[in-house]
Amino acid sequence: MSINIAIDGPAGAGKSTIAKKLAEELSYVYIDTGAMYRAMALYFLEHQVDAENEEKISRECRNVEITISYENGEQQVILNGVNVNGKIRSEEIGHMASVTSVYSAVRTKLVELQQEIAEKTDVIMDGRDIGTCVLPNAQVKIYLTASVETRAKRRFDELMAKGVSCELKEIEKDIEERDYRDMHREISPLKQANDAVLVDSSNMDIDGVVAEIKRICKEKAGI
Ligand code: C5P
Repeated sequence: MSINIAIDGPAGAGKSTIAKKLAEELSYVYIDTGAMYRAMALYFLEHQVDAENEEKISRECRNVEITISYENGEQQVILNGVNVNGKIRSEEIGHMASVTSVYSAVRTKLVELQQEIAEKTDVIMDGRDIGTCVLPNAQVKIYLTASVETRAKRRFDELMAKGVSCELKEIEKDIEERDYRDMHREISPLKQANDAVLVDSSNMDIDGVVAEIKRICKEKAGI
């Protein structure tokens, strides 16, 4: 049986950075499920599918094939045969992913893919519903969060470093809206699983969070 580690939490909590480091140290495969929702969102945007039209979105889902592969240890998302990794990191796609991930057709498709991968492989999977829905039997579940201010500041610094001009207040507002949507949707809302361990990274650096999660993995699953 494969070993599964689930890391859930709100946007900007540092899940992917932490999960990637942890996966490297433990030699597990890192699965970024947000990237799959982003690839779906890219498809809807490119095909001008109205995000409000659930019927159309559900129909279009049948035309979307998403798979993942790895290049130099980095997850690549393949959308209908094309590697879209370079196209899915924008704020626009993040917003569209959050809006369209509320639909059951979108979630069912991606959850199936995620479960298939985790069944055969030792994975660290990050997302919003991994501990509650995708991998309810994961041996380790972490709920990683941080204050809105901290998350917004991290995102702001990241964008500035990339030379993208932005407003801290705007980012804060966007994060609050995204949190609200992710936590209040009908299907698989973001919440801490009953058996997940809460880690608040507001006052911790990356190495500190990785060390804390490694400690939890040892305690819970002897990893
Ligand atoms: O984590 P990331 O910002 O890449 O995710 C983009 C959006 O995809 C999230 O805001 C959320 O709405 C959605 N998502 C989800 N379930 C997951 C992962 C992401 O609904 N497991």
